[in-house]
Amino acid sequence: AVHIVGSINLDIITSLDHLPLPGETVMAKATARLPGGKGANQAVAAARMGAQTRMVGAVGNDDAGRWMRERLARDGIAVSGVVALEGVETGTAYIAVDAEGENQIVVVSGANARLTPPGPVNEGVLLAQLEVPVGALLPVFRNSKCIRILNAAPAVLAADVLLDHVDVLVVNQTELAAFACCGPVDALPAVVREARSLIRHEDQAVVVTLGARGSVAVKKHWDIHVPAVPVIPVDTVGAGDSFCGALAALLDEGRSLAEALPWASAAAALCTLGQGAAPSMPMRAAVADLLSG
Ligand code: ADP
Repeated sequence: AVHIVGSINLDIITSLDHLPLPGETVMAKATARLPGGKGANQAVAAARMGAQTRMVGAVGNDDAGRWMRERLARDGIAVSGVVALEGVETGTAYIAVDAEGENQIVVVSGANARLTPPGPVNEGVLLAQLEVPVGALLPVFRNSKCIRILNAAPAVLAADVLLDHVDVLVVNQTELAAFACCGPVDALPAVVREARSLIRHEDQAVVVTLGARGSVAVKKHWDIHVPAVPVIPVDTVGAGDSFCGALAALLDEGRSLAEALPWASAAAALCTLGQGAAPSMPMRAAVADLLSG
């Protein structure tokens, strides 16, 4: 199974003609409420790829928390590991998007910041991101005997202590630059070099996602470049989450990293064709069709 330890947010999205300046009031036409949080998004992505998926996280004892649990359960995700905490709200992201697609986001971590360390995972795949406290993740990564994947997003540098206990690290270019303490890296040889600098033990892999250029995977004496599937994106929000969830699902099936990456790449490409993150996570059949077509 894929065990996800991560954030659960309610995303409240408004569409505006232009983003408000300080002190300005801008009228929006409507509000959309969508499931969000990197943890929840990646859980949906893994479940739709056919993995038996278990979510571990925290919400508030409120309507948003109950709604998020119900949304996850609807995708077949086991939610008994999602605790409802008293005296704290469910994590919420307030997102404003203007006519050009530029956005402004305010996030209230809420219950996510109060997640306590869950027990170890001793089968399948562990997948976590950095929207929950590093202190809650360290014992799980240290003690679990399974394939441990860390999507080091957002770039919380305190997560450096986790890297010794990770089997597959997934970062985008911004996160690579932050963790490798280098400037912006763009050329593939430089990406490979900086990714390799993050390897802490034999057999560890680092995957760097490169947007429309695909991804690069690096081990100590091995590297590959997996091109993106060419698409005309509608909304790239959630592409990284789709990539990570699909990767976890395929590794859980016993596929090698080299076999799993094209699936992750195809899933992420399909995700860019729909609005939002969780709602546009593709089903396995659609990903398989894209790969065979
Ligand atoms: P993040 O959204 O986390 O910054 P990336 O932009 O690197 O991550 O995207 C993650 C993955 O999504 C990429 O490795 C790629 O496989 C896929 N992807 C992103 N943008 C596109 C695109 N324009 N066309 C095709 N695939 C894309």
